[in-house]
Amino acid sequence: MNTTAELGSGGGSVWVGADDYAIGSFPRPVGEIRDRIDTFIAAMRADKPYFLGFPANMDFSFSELSGLLDIFVNNVGDPRSAEKAAISAKPMECAVVDAITELANGRPEHTYGYVSASGSEANLFGLDRGCALLPEAKIYCSSAAHYSVRKAARLMRRELVVVDCDESGRMDVDALAEVCRHDAGRGAVVVATLGTTMTGAIDDVDAIAAAAGSTGRFYVHLDATLGGLVVPFTAHGAKWGFARPEVGSLAISMHKGLGMPVPCALALCRAELVRAEVEGEYVGATDATLGCSRAGMASVLLWYALSDKGFAGLEQHARRSLRTAAYAVTALAASGLDPMRHEESIIVVFDRPAESICRKYHLATEGERAHIVTLPHVRESMIDSLCLDILESGAAGARG
Ligand SMILES: *Cc1c(COP(=O)(O)O)cnc(C)c1O
Repeated sequence: MNTTAELGSGGGSVWVGADDYAIGSFPRPVGEIRDRIDTFIAAMRADKPYFLGFPANMDFSFSELSGLLDIFVNNVGDPRSAEKAAISAKPMECAVVDAITELANGRPEHTYGYVSASGSEANLFGLDRGCALLPEAKIYCSSAAHYSVRKAARLMRRELVVVDCDESGRMDVDALAEVCRHDAGRGAVVVATLGTTMTGAIDDVDAIAAAAGSTGRFYVHLDATLGGLVVPFTAHGAKWGFARPEVGSLAISMHKGLGMPVPCALALCRAELVRAEVEGEYVGATDATLGCSRAGMASVLLWYALSDKGFAGLEQHARRSLRTAAYAVTALAASGLDPMRHEESIIVVFDRPAESICRKYHLATEGERAHIVTLPHVRESMIDSLCLDILESGAAGARG
């Protein structure tokens, strides 16, 4: 077997040489195709115990639903709109949208939403709704906001104002107030990040709302891509999301917190921000989504996972993640790695270890610091093994 994959070693070495995948003029032998795929699956699975740095919950199993791989499910257009082709899983998608709306303190009858392909798409959707409402407004976000916000601003040709963070990693609201004063009367579309990508900081939406007021009418989009399944179960749970009237839209990732075999997210906004219009007669559905054809499979899988867990299961997930984060702080501190964790965050930032360890544990790094994300698949034993490896590499470094 011509493969460079090192099974079970960690480090994401799933790259069989690219040539091994080249598509040729003639069919490959079936056995060889299976072998390639099986090798790929085995390498991905072997890496699960080392998957610490990037936000995707690996605790899931959908293999009972393998029948889905042999049917075509396309949720074309709005979840609540019947489409002509009628090969959708829209009733399941609506149930998922309603459940997540409830988690976000929204009222299902007053909320529009759909299952998007990614958190970035959900951010683009929300920002587009805000920008449509306030055509003169600029977009404001903090320097720790995800780059999808920058991408969205670029696609919409809308000016983006990047506001510094304070020492806690949150948007500096005094700085926001200052730039907003220059734009009095234009309105503002402000992105608040609930769980920043690198440090997990949670922007203060109350303070942001107070600071943006000087622009006149303003709109808040919550990028809760990372924190959206944790915040509801914290002290902020009762007043986050649509509980605040300024919040027009919200993005929550599903593959990050819930655990999914395909990337997907929830894009939600207040129902009055979308118009039900049939966009293409041949489709027959009203369509305020950005996707048109959307993976019905994602909706089925989400419905299955949420039905299986219920809100109680989601709460357990969130509590376990927060507990593991607290454990990681203690363990990393004991190893002398100067850990830092924001309140109610599942990200722990610490001193960047040797490159081989960053690779082995899939650590996200920025400058001299690295982070781990304690999603539900992360066990205390994984943190212990990371700390042990770091201590040993330090000792080896000192010897060498
Ligand atoms: C991951 C992330 C995104 C982007 O989500 P994708 O699904 O990767 O597109 C956006 N915002 C934040 C805060 C994130 O952590």
